[in-house]
Amino acid sequence: MKLDLSELLNGKRSAVSFDYAFDPTQVTGDCAAMPDDVTIPENGIRVRGEAVDSFGTLMLRADVTVSYETRCARCLDPVSREFSFRMERMVLTGRETEREFSHLTEDGEWDGVTDDILYVNEGYVDADADIVEEAALAVPTFDLCEPDCPGLCPKCGRKLRDGGCECREEKYINPQFAVLQTLLDKKKED
Ligand SMILES: [Zn+2]
Ligand SMILES: [Zn+2]
Repeated sequence: MKLDLSELLNGKRSAVSFDYAFDPTQVTGDCAAMPDDVTIPENGIRVRGEAVDSFGTLMLRADVTVSYETRCARCLDPVSREFSFRMERMVLTGRETEREFSHLTEDGEWDGVTDDILYVNEGYVDADADIVEEAALAVPTFDLCEPDCPGLCPKCGRKLRDGGCECREEKYINPQFAVLQTLLDKKKED
C-alpha cells in the first residue's frame, strides 16, 4: 500500500502510523516469489508500524505477520501457519546529500547494501515489494501437522496416523537391508 508521508515530510507530524493487510498478488513489479508449496490467503500479510522522523532521518519500522497455507512435510496434509518479523527501512526523499546515505563508506564508496532503503515518490512510500521479499526469505520450509506426525507408510503410501495400514504389522524392511536380512535368516538356518 502507498503510505502517505506528506505530513511527515512537511514537518506537520513527527510520526505517521499505519496498519493494513495485503496479499502478494497485489504487488506489482519485481519481487521474490513465495515457495511453490506456500499459499498466502487474501490479505494474509498484516503490516503494523510507523514512519518517523528521527533527527532528520526518516525511518520506517513495521511488524509484519504472514498467514500461509502449506502441506505437512511428512503426511502432506494441509497446514495453516503464521510467522512474524520486524522490518526496518531508511526512507530517502531524494533531497539528501550523498553524505547522508548511510551506505556510503568514509571514502564515499557504495557498500553494496541497497535493500534497506525505500524512496519517497510524490509524498508516498510503498514498502510492499520489500515486505514480500522478506516474507519469502523468512517463510519456514519445513512444517508438520503435528510435531510427532508419523508420516506415510513407505510401502503403500497410506497415512500412518489414521490407524495406518496392514503393512505395519509385517514390519517394513528397507530394500537395502533386505539382502542382509536374507543372509541373517540363512545363517540361522545353518
Ligand atoms: Zn503430518
Ligand atoms: Zn502401508
